[in-house]
Amino acid sequence: MLVGTAVDWREGLDAGDLSSLALVRASLDRMKRLEGRLHAILAMGEDRSLQLATQADARLRAGERSPVLGLPIVLKDNLHWSGLQVSCGSRILDGYRAPYNATVVQRLLAAGAVPVAKANMDEFAMGSSGEYSAFGPARNPWDTARVPGGSSSGSVVAVSAGYTPLALGSDTGGSVRLPASFCNVTALRPTYGVLSRYGLTAMASSLDQVGPIATSAADIALAFGVMAGLDPMDSTSADLPRADCLAPLRPKNLKGLRIGLPVEYFGDGLESGVRSLLETALQVFADQGAEIREVSLPHTRYAIDTYYLLCTSEVSSNLSRFDGVRYGRRGEGVDLPEMIAETRNQGLGAEVKRRILLGAFCLSKGYYDAFYIKALKARTLIARDFDKVFESVDLLATPVSPGVAFPFGAKTDDPLAMYLADAFTVTAPLAGIPCLSMPAGFTTGLPVGIQLIGPAFSDVMLLETAHAFQSLTRHHLETPPLSA
Ligand code: GLN
Repeated sequence: MLVGTAVDWREGLDAGDLSSLALVRASLDRMKRLEGRLHAILAMGEDRSLQLATQADARLRAGERSPVLGLPIVLKDNLHWSGLQVSCGSRILDGYRAPYNATVVQRLLAAGAVPVAKANMDEFAMGSSGEYSAFGPARNPWDTARVPGGSSSGSVVAVSAGYTPLALGSDTGGSVRLPASFCNVTALRPTYGVLSRYGLTAMASSLDQVGPIATSAADIALAFGVMAGLDPMDSTSADLPRADCLAPLRPKNLKGLRIGLPVEYFGDGLESGVRSLLETALQVFADQGAEIREVSLPHTRYAIDTYYLLCTSEVSSNLSRFDGVRYGRRGEGVDLPEMIAETRNQGLGAEVKRRILLGAFCLSKGYYDAFYIKALKARTLIARDFDKVFESVDLLATPVSPGVAFPFGAKTDDPLAMYLADAFTVTAPLAGIPCLSMPAGFTTGLPVGIQLIGPAFSDVMLLETAHAFQSLTRHHLETPPLSA
């Protein structure tokens, strides 16, 4: 069995000790062996992947070098890879195939990466556990009776279970970081705009970002550098400073690094096992000379309400395009309104419907000022808290989630309990700033992540800091107990 980090595989490919074809075959084999248990994958493009791997090998033999050339990668099923399905985890897109490549996918393909599969996800990226997928949930490789976290459940499971060393997810309010924490992998949510959203099916456009997922920060850097940068197809796209420092990534010197611990994230709700692992992780930074101090982000308490008002408002608008006319499946009806209603009634799941209703309500005449406009104001206050705190610290360290992966069904009857799982992950997206989740150890046999949050465009610094931590620890190299 071939198991390794992307950096290991990169070296093997460049040295001629490995071939892309062998790696891609190994990925596909492992996927087929474990899928019955994990259900991380919704579609494969096997023939095409093998063809791309053969092309990558030819480019390698011709002496070409690129950070991702020949590496297999899994894509969340809301990213367009031309010719393959884009289900977004929903029945409403039955039969819809991507007519073009998302910019991030196009850039990966141009650099020689080999997509191998489309990953399971919560329907339209709405959810925190993976349980809202219309095709049944992915399972956590560390304990298959527990959720892997969502919404990028399949992408994270693919990396955690060793299908591929790299995957792409999307993060609107935590969807790569929460599952990364639950499954012991590393995931970055970049500064808003740094990765193009062109070809990422929109959930809440002012919050959506593509998020790379891998075993380590150094692995993420390989793919991130290839994908980042201005895209004329996305009017909110922005350039990434210091992109040239991503491959190979160097660990940051931690001496004198000022790390803030926001008191609002370390309250009573935090499970004791999580708290003590975070303390141990912070000690690693302190031992290297980092200065750790408490800070406050006073508007954190409004973050969940703000996020769920803005997110649902944007959802209600973005998802109106799924009407049975343009994409995917079509319901029966005697006239157009009835056909549209029937299409949406059959095609969309309960959580998606709940959000469309809530969002339409927030945006409706008479409530717009009271809810939507007020939430926008709260968003500004939350962003200002971060601006202020970054005057005195370089980055923040927080929990990703108050607890470990929960059992299936624990929160599905109570949408509010599910929303509260996002308490620590929705704040940074509201401010548009970068953040990552990386492994910090285990409690009761289950992984726990630590989150780093930095000011806008500090993405490379965050990865360098994570790389320094991962050079000193081994949590990220632990693999789940899967016999195969
Ligand atoms: N769990 C959050 C939600 O349900 C975040 C989802 C996401 O980041 N896509 O909205």
